[in-house]
Formats: sequence, C-alpha cells, structure tokens
Amino acid sequence: MVKVLKFGGTSLASAEQFAKVAAIVRAEPERRYVVASAPGKRFDGDTKVTDMLYDCYRLVKSNDPIDGAFDAIRARLQSIIDELGLALDLTQDFERVKSALLHHSGRDYAASRGEYFNARILAAYLGYDFIDAESVIFFKENGTLDVEKTDAELAAALAKHERAVIPGFYGVMPNGTIKTFSRGGSDITGSIVARAVRADLYENWTDVSGMLMADPRCVKNPRVIPTITYRELRELSYMGATVLHEDAVFPVRQASIPINIRNTNRPQDSGTMIVEHVASNKVDTVITGVAGKPGFSVIAIEKDGMNA
Ligand code: ASP
Repeated sequence: MVKVLKFGGTSLASAEQFAKVAAIVRAEPERRYVVASAPGKRFDGDTKVTDMLYDCYRLVKSNDPIDGAFDAIRARLQSIIDELGLALDLTQDFERVKSALLHHSGRDYAASRGEYFNARILAAYLGYDFIDAESVIFFKENGTLDVEKTDAELAAALAKHERAVIPGFYGVMPNGTIKTFSRGGSDITGSIVARAVRADLYENWTDVSGMLMADPRCVKNPRVIPTITYRELRELSYMGATVLHEDAVFPVRQASIPINIRNTNRPQDSGTMIVEHVASNKVDTVITGVAGKPGFSVIAIEKDGMNA
C-alpha cells in the first residue's frame, strides 16, 4: 500500500501545525510521499507566504528595495525551523533566493519559493528525502503540463526514494525556468505524484473535515459528505463548493485512485472520500449535496438512444 499526502497552507502555517502533520504522517507506514504547500494563514488577517513572495516580486519590478519584505518571509520560515528545534541551516539558500529575486528571476520563481522552503523544512523534520519539483514536474513550451514526461520521470525518481517530500505548486519549463500552476495548485502536484506512484489513496489534508452537503452561509451546520463520486463533485464544485483545485481531479481519476479530503486539525474525522462509483447498496443518502448560484439554472436532458 502506498498513500500520497498533500498538506495545504494552513496545515503547514506554523511549527504547531508541522507537529500535527508529522503525527499524521507517522501514524501509518504507507504514508510515504508528502506534497507540501507554502505556509498559509495562521489566523484571520494573516498573510500567506505565497502572497508575501508576490509582493517581493512587485517591489523588484518597481525597483523598490525588498529587504524588509524578504526579511519578513525569512523570519516566518526561520521561526518554524527554530520552534521545531531543527538543525537545518537555510542561510545560504535564503541569500541565493534573495539574489535571484533581485536579478529578475520571474514572478513564478518568486511565488514557488514558499513551497520550496516549506518542503525542505518538512523533509528535515520528518527525516524524509527532499525531491525538488523542478527535477520531476515538467511543463511544455505552451505552458501546459507535459503529462507523459512528468509521469515517467516522477515514477523513476520516486522509485529511488522510500519516503520523500516534494514541494507543490511548481515545475520547470523546457528552458529551465520555474513555472507554477494557478493558485491552489499544490493539489495538482499531489494528484500527479499519486498517479506516478500508482498510489492506493491520495489524501488531501486541509482545514475542513471534508465537503459539506450545503453552503454553511445558507444552511446551519450542514453535514459532511462521507462519499461522493467524481461526477457529483464536478456538479457541486462548478456551483461554487470548492475544496480542491479542479485540475487536481483528472490525474488520479484517470488512474482510478480515490481522493480523501481530511482535516489536519481533526485527524479523527474520516472526511470525504471521492470515488469513481458508489455501490448502490451502500448509498444511505438520497441526495449527496446541494449547491446553487443565483440566476443560474441547469437543464439536464437525458434520453436513450442519443448516439443513434
Ligand atoms: N501556495 C500556493 C497558493 O497560495 C499554492 C497552494 O497552496 O496550493 O496558491
């Protein structure tokens, strides 16, 4: 059994969250490959490290000094290292990245460094190998993922590592520059990794205990959906109920790997399982979930013999 785990930004926002993540990873020996996001918000009103990095990029572009902005990023990452008591010295890495930013290494390069550093820290903390996404996730010239090359190289690289941490969100262009997926793209990396190792399960760890049956802004205390099919997920998510980047579904779905949405802060909850089919004798709810959008209607027409 192999499980691939992806931890989102809030799950890796502080040393306290890292400790929860380590307990989850260590709880099952099959949890072998871990994809990390950049540190997210620790509290309401906090700033995600990815957004701090985009700010740094804007400062470079407008020829303003980045020292203050960069120091704030370094301080956030260093506080995680210090509070975890890790003997990990990223001083030279920080300097190298700062200098690359100043030398106009690009918007995507800047944004990607949150995942890069966080994965380095998590790998050191777990005692797992670190595999840089830039050596295993490949984009084509036109900016789309090079699916075949990525799948082959990732599978070959991971076969050499019993346990590893891989940064989410980015990969490399044919000319060697860094490119990111769209926002929230670490979900996609997790899915690609799960497919490459033919995982039995892709666990997507976030800060909610799964998908809710209804929008909590409209319905008080909606229940969590225990099991949902990929098809139902698509219906619910294009009405605005997103827990997962939409492009994260395709790689695992194609390989028939279920996704389990889990809550890092409540690992005892079983979350939502996203599967291809639900056996009809196992369905105990008539309705999986309800979503809506004002001024938006869906007309579904079904008819036998359409292909004729
Ligand atoms: N850190 C990136 C973002 O904030 C990617 C991710 O978290 O999945 O969008």
